[in-house]
Amino acid sequence: MLEQNVWHYAYLSRPQQRKLRERLRVFIAEKEWVGCGGLEMTDEVKVTVAAQACLLLLGMPGNYCFDHVQTILVYPGAFLRPSELQNQYGVVDEEMAAHGEAWRRGPVILSWDRVLEDGHYPHDGHNLVLHEFAHQIDALDGEMGGTPPLGSTRQWKRWHDVMEGEFHRLENAVRRGWPTLLDDYGATNRAEFFAVATECFFEQPEELWKHHPELFDVLHDFYRLNPVEWVA
Ligand SMILES: [Zn+2]
Repeated sequence: MLEQNVWHYAYLSRPQQRKLRERLRVFIAEKEWVGCGGLEMTDEVKVTVAAQACLLLLGMPGNYCFDHVQTILVYPGAFLRPSELQNQYGVVDEEMAAHGEAWRRGPVILSWDRVLEDGHYPHDGHNLVLHEFAHQIDALDGEMGGTPPLGSTRQWKRWHDVMEGEFHRLENAVRRGWPTLLDDYGATNRAEFFAVATECFFEQPEELWKHHPELFDVLHDFYRLNPVEWVA
């Protein structure tokens, strides 16, 4: 299942593969899994979602495993953007950012078609699971504002400087209709920017490193991973 549905898996080092398998077992065991809209919850769904989410944790020390996420809802539905999925739940992204505390307790909602598609096609810059779970990491400090908990004041300052600059750069490019590596959706707000940048970091690391070296650096420091090594 990992080899078929999670393209990153084949690129990981042996120790990283082992760590991913360990983490995803904990992840699967600790969450409540709910199939919605007629989706039958299977091991394949659980393994695929858990493995993609746990990619984000591969470099992090400790046993953190999205502890505050209790429930994962999976719909069969195709082609839904995260915002549209959230809208079905009566929550739009702006509200999500404003009410991070409430949303932090809420379920993570996914579309199985999208999860599979993202797992099969490498390097297109999109991954719904990475996007949604980046939001969960962002919310760890009690607010979904685009800044996850950081180690030091120095790291915070660097984060703030780089992220603000890159966010405004994307906003400006989107407004002018210029082509961008980062998805336009990242210009919505700072929370979406972090989630979209995370997708790009894991999906198109070489391009991100080439075109946004500082952004790559900040995410490299935060996730303690270098995905360029995987795809090289
Ligand atoms: Zn989002």
